[in-house]
Amino acid sequence: MSPTPATLHLVATPIGNLGDLTPRAAEILSRVELICCEDTRRTGRLLSHLGGHRGSMVVCNEHTEMNRITDVLKTLERGDEVALVSDAGTPAISDPGYRLVRAVIAAGYRVSPVPGPNAAIAALVASGLAPDRFVFEGFLPRRGGERQRRLAEIAREERTTIIYESPQRVARTIGDLTEICGADRAVVVARELTKLHEEIVHGHLGTIDVGEGRGEYVIVLDGAPEPGRPDDDAIRAELTQALHDGLSTRDAAREIAGRLGVTRRDVYALAVAMTASDDQRRDIGPSGAAPAPGGGDE
Ligand code: SAM
Repeated sequence: MSPTPATLHLVATPIGNLGDLTPRAAEILSRVELICCEDTRRTGRLLSHLGGHRGSMVVCNEHTEMNRITDVLKTLERGDEVALVSDAGTPAISDPGYRLVRAVIAAGYRVSPVPGPNAAIAALVASGLAPDRFVFEGFLPRRGGERQRRLAEIAREERTTIIYESPQRVARTIGDLTEICGADRAVVVARELTKLHEEIVHGHLGTIDVGEGRGEYVIVLDGAPEPGRPDDDAIRAELTQALHDGLSTRDAAREIAGRLGVTRRDVYALAVAMTASDDQRRDIGPSGAAPAPGGGDE
């Protein structure tokens, strides 16, 4: 893409691993006239890692974002380029930037994304929970009626929900979610993504161990079961019977999905997980025999 003057670039920066800064992000940061950042020392370290920059840095945080709009618009008026970065990840995602973006669009200038790291998407794709439809909740309100209302909404939500949390509050939030969603809801807690101590813990709300409350956390919560949908245990029981009766995984999934009114994809995913855990049990069995060939046929 050719350089475009008078543009506000929204530049994603690493959430832990410096190697995740894209070459395009590095090139744009090195050439723009003005860099809006949350913390000049932190962004300064990133820029010196890149080997320098020509533009000046100004602070754009939740307190100064409105005042920064004038500086940004003046720079764009001169036909120059501006970059917005946050301390980590994608600007404007649980970080400052939204109001600046609105103002730049309203003034008729170009806003261009420079995509890259984002903790929510990184956690979602590594969680193993359904990524096809999801809801990003960001940080929950810390207390009061608004927190209760959001928790109640999350409990009913059928799509996968992504929540940002601080190390001090992650255990409490898991506790509150357990109370409202029930102990059996599947959850994944992703900690320190892309860093040395990256940890992705899979479990259920009632039993998951969130560790010692250090580092940065993303909670990925499975969606609520559709109303009237049989629970996974009931579907597994049907699958066990159908496979025992000699049906292939594909035929069993089709037959059970039609009969119970659930999607074939959901039944098939459960069947594959069952087959995989059977294989694993055989694998670590006392005989040490090799696992039977996989039963998947799709
Ligand atoms: N704009 C950022 C993004 O694109 O992900 C998010 C900024 S928000 C102020 C910071 C929160 O993101 C943290 O409290 C944590 O919930 C999550 N986060 C950021 N980096 C993370 C990492 N390396 N591992 C896990 N969570 C992270």
